[in-house]
Amino acid sequence: MITRPRRLRSSAALRRLVRETRLDPGRLIYPLFVTDAATEARPIASMPGISQWPVRDVVREARDAASLGLGAVLLFGIPAAKDAAGSGSYDSEGVVQRAVRELKGALPDLVVITDVCLCEYTDHGHCGLLNGSAGLAQNAHLPDDYVLNDESVAVLARIAVSHAEAGADIVAPSAMLDGMVAGIRKALDGACFSNLPILSYSAKYASALYGPFRDAAQGAPKQGDRQSHQMDVANAREAVRESAIDVDEGADLLMVKPALPYLDIVRATRERFPDVVLAAYNVSGEYAMVKAAAERGWVEERRAVLEILTGIHRAGADLIITYHAKDAARWLRER
Ligand SMILES: [Zn+2]
Repeated sequence: MITRPRRLRSSAALRRLVRETRLDPGRLIYPLFVTDAATEARPIASMPGISQWPVRDVVREARDAASLGLGAVLLFGIPAAKDAAGSGSYDSEGVVQRAVRELKGALPDLVVITDVCLCEYTDHGHCGLLNGSAGLAQNAHLPDDYVLNDESVAVLARIAVSHAEAGADIVAPSAMLDGMVAGIRKALDGACFSNLPILSYSAKYASALYGPFRDAAQGAPKQGDRQSHQMDVANAREAVRESAIDVDEGADLLMVKPALPYLDIVRATRERFPDVVLAAYNVSGEYAMVKAAAERGWVEERRAVLEILTGIHRAGADLIITYHAKDAARWLRER
């Protein structure tokens, strides 16, 4: 006897009935770049369709996202001025803090997540305080461009509290520093925000696919790279360990970043933590590759995007952070 799985593929209606994975706009998180360095929306050349928004315009873009049924927005800030300590990052009148207040005022039901890091706010572009900079004593045992761990975590905690005070629904630390989640949890609890969830970028790789983002967020390191804190692309067991540490420290949601070259990590994290909400970040380079190929007519954008997002969800991600979010939501509605 021949086994005939094709029987269940013989019509669109049957295929729909037995479909195992369904995408929903509510699973998608739309990243937004909000800027104090420009007064008009500024399109990002390497990310067609994505712009930096001044605070007064970000509500309009977020309203679009909300009306399409997207699950949340994730805010990144570009300050007007930077310094070695990244002091604009925790300013109550900073770009993200003002944007959060505007967004929560105008769209109280939209979940607003804030990225918590220093790279957009430091003049050197690193994710933390550097050895011997910003008034800190030089540690002779560490290189000059070393991102100091505990000193930087203290600043991340301060940023997270300032976002919470502005009204953020979730804070998302992305610096990949040790003890980052514990430091932020303690600071939030101490400031009466024990109810505020933390989405940890728990397994973030030192990837080549962040290039367009660095144009968008204007946070590329002036020199050096991020390999002393972000993960080596070759490591899988370490990623699961990083997530386990963050769960222990109090992370409410985990993340794997980037998504496509790391679907094995998404799956391994899912299996190790079946009951923890898991996000995957479909990063700027993944977005740009699809856009560039679609522009040339080499792939059909709509099908490619929905296939990619379905694949990330199928691998085990509950939530997908993606620049395709608005298009995908429209296409899913049409379908
Ligand atoms: Zn960073």
